Amino acid sequence: MIVARTIQEIRAAVAAAKSAGHVVGLVPTMGALHAGHYSLIDAARRQCPFVAVSIFVNPLQFGPAEDLARYPRTIEADLAGCMAHGVAAVFMPDVQEMYGRPCRTVIEVPDLGRMLCGASRPGHFAGVCTVVAKLFNIVQPDVAYFGAKDFQQTAIIRRMADDLNFPLAIAVCPTVREPDGLAMSSRNAYLTAQQRKQAPALRQALVMAAVLITACRPPAGMVVETIIQHLSKRAPGGVVDYVEIVDPRELSPVEKTDGNVLIALAVRFGRARLIDNILVD
Ligand code: AMP
Repeated sequence: MIVARTIQEIRAAVAAAKSAGHVVGLVPTMGALHAGHYSLIDAARRQCPFVAVSIFVNPLQFGPAEDLARYPRTIEADLAGCMAHGVAAVFMPDVQEMYGRPCRTVIEVPDLGRMLCGASRPGHFAGVCTVVAKLFNIVQPDVAYFGAKDFQQTAIIRRMADDLNFPLAIAVCPTVREPDGLAMSSRNAYLTAQQRKQAPALRQALVMAAVLITACRPPAGMVVETIIQHLSKRAPGGVVDYVEIVDPRELSPVEKTDGNVLIALAVRFGRARLIDNILVD
């Protein structure tokens, strides 16, 4: 497995793979890899003979009061995991390599990026789009893999890739969960034992709401209310950031629940902000 710390090194590795006729897959991550990340890597391995994983905690996507400095970093375990999952190259640049001179160009999908998580994390998705566009240009993969846990991120990146004609395919993989339903996340490490006990309530509330919608298509406001009540009973230690029912393509709020809808929520447990979503067909 190649460990590339510079843009030049990863480009050389990918160029060699491409000249050998290999399809190249990219899995962008911020490290602290868990089974959710490895499911993306495994999906990439099934489709691409050459899989690159990027590990970069991107300062551009963290707000000033967010957890950039304490974001978990487990680089040795990550490299061992990548090796075990058949990754061909890990690209792990430092901030200097990625932003050697301040990046003046910002890529944004303003409408999709301002709702849901964008409302409480201003600038977050511009940071994500900018780093993902850089990674696409640096690695030049044929396919890039993202997780449905970050549904809004996938919608924004798809749109960016389409709008800017990146010559690659975007693959979205299902959310991997703990046995009790909690979506795996590097930020789950911040949860106290008591918060961890309450956190599965997010998934329970989403599943309950999906069943309710499928059964009787109630108005969106009523479903939101049911979710908030469930969370206040089962996760009293959590502070709801948002619960929204939106159109899955436009991410705009809906009032009726008779078409395809996405139910998305974010809840803060102390310093951990957890997100989850469910698509209701
Ligand atoms: P992160 O390291 O948190 O930036 O995540 C890197 C990629 O892994 C993103 O595309 C995430 O959506 C994806 N991911 C994170 N957690 C999960 C999960 N539990 N299941 C599936 N994909 C995930």
